[in-house]
Amino acid sequence: MELSTISKTRTAFNDWLNKEAALQSNLLFESFSSEKVIPKDVLPRKLKGDAYAISCYRDETRWSFLDRVCERISKEGSRFLEDPADRDAIEWTNRLKAIRRDVHKAHAFVRFKKTTEEGKEIFIAWHRPQHLTTDLFIRLFCRRFPTMHWMILTADECAHFENGKVQFSKAYEGQSLEIEDHWEENWRTYYSSIYNPARLMVQAMKKEMPQWHWQTMPESSLIPNLIRQSQNKIHTMAQKSQRSASPYIPTFCQSIEKIQESLPQCEGCSLHAHCRVTPGKGNSKASLLFVGEQPGDEEEKRGEPFIGPAGQLLRKTWEEVGGNWNDLYVTNALKHFKYELRGKMRLHKRPGSDEVAACRPWLQKELELISPKVILCLGSTAALSVSGRLWPVERYRGTWLPSAGQSRILLTYHPAALLRAPDQKKQEYERDFKNDLKLALSVA
Ligand code: SF4
Repeated sequence: MELSTISKTRTAFNDWLNKEAALQSNLLFESFSSEKVIPKDVLPRKLKGDAYAISCYRDETRWSFLDRVCERISKEGSRFLEDPADRDAIEWTNRLKAIRRDVHKAHAFVRFKKTTEEGKEIFIAWHRPQHLTTDLFIRLFCRRFPTMHWMILTADECAHFENGKVQFSKAYEGQSLEIEDHWEENWRTYYSSIYNPARLMVQAMKKEMPQWHWQTMPESSLIPNLIRQSQNKIHTMAQKSQRSASPYIPTFCQSIEKIQESLPQCEGCSLHAHCRVTPGKGNSKASLLFVGEQPGDEEEKRGEPFIGPAGQLLRKTWEEVGGNWNDLYVTNALKHFKYELRGKMRLHKRPGSDEVAACRPWLQKELELISPKVILCLGSTAALSVSGRLWPVERYRGTWLPSAGQSRILLTYHPAALLRAPDQKKQEYERDFKNDLKLALSVA
């Protein structure tokens, strides 16, 4: 196989730059549109790279276009290339964009297959660039795989990289690359795992991954099937993401008792299947309402919120600051307990934002019916469910959150956070928690 140290496109560009000498020596690599010699030394250095890229544009007019631009530069300077209304400037920019896009696609779509030759590992890829960009896109691979032996075959020329040096040979004429390689299976597995049917837009996908390149990419064989399966998957995902408690709230729900009565029928999210519901409890005319995250193990067993260890700490602190538990209404963002089993133990599991969103209509109904003066959010899940957005506790604890209604919203720690707090932080947490309860009590 005959190898050259310089690519076909670079040789052609050099011939065009030194057309006069090339014509005289009769060693022109490529035929140019005219034999007229345009002074190429007028090309400013900063434009030489772009001119080379444009010479890689797969089009018969590329040399005459470059000649025309050089002729204009020699007469008027290169400023016209910055004029957005100039036809040559527009074409210059468009051709450059097309080349950059082609190089980008090569970086994304070149797929190497591993094989061995005389006992040595060699990685071979077959790629179909739309323009004559082999010499341009291989530069990234040279930098990225400097110690490997690899080849990229294209229908224009082939690049061979070994011992840190790249060389070129003539075009590859095959229509496929028959090398068995387990990497292909990895590509397919990877592609099907990242494939998101909900984001499938066939036109957009074809634009991003043009069909032109499918022939050289192992994962493309999966695409037609994945598209066919998408509709079913989208339907299931949509059903999952649209789960909500709303259909289970009676149309004329005018009392807290009605909520308590209706809650056991709720199937607004999957949590209903694993345990019993724990409704809110307390004074339905309360001026102060506490919202926690979800019932715990103890609460679920007895069907009452805030009676487990964290609830007892809350009750004790509340009494210490002068509050009366019977004046309150207490509830949770989620009315079912989310847990994971560890042996026979049910361990608390943080709810997902989809579950918080699904259960939110119940809490909103409670807030609407009670309309308290102050809502005390115990932790960020409570604040998310009350206000519809995330408020990190470390940052917003002790502050009044914006409220769309009449009630004022205060954020503090969940009492479980105090139980879990490291020893050196415990006192500080307890002091802040107490201050927040005092503040809530004073305003309510
Ligand atoms: S957690 Fe809320 S939305 Fe989910 S089933 Fe229970 S009550 Fe319904």
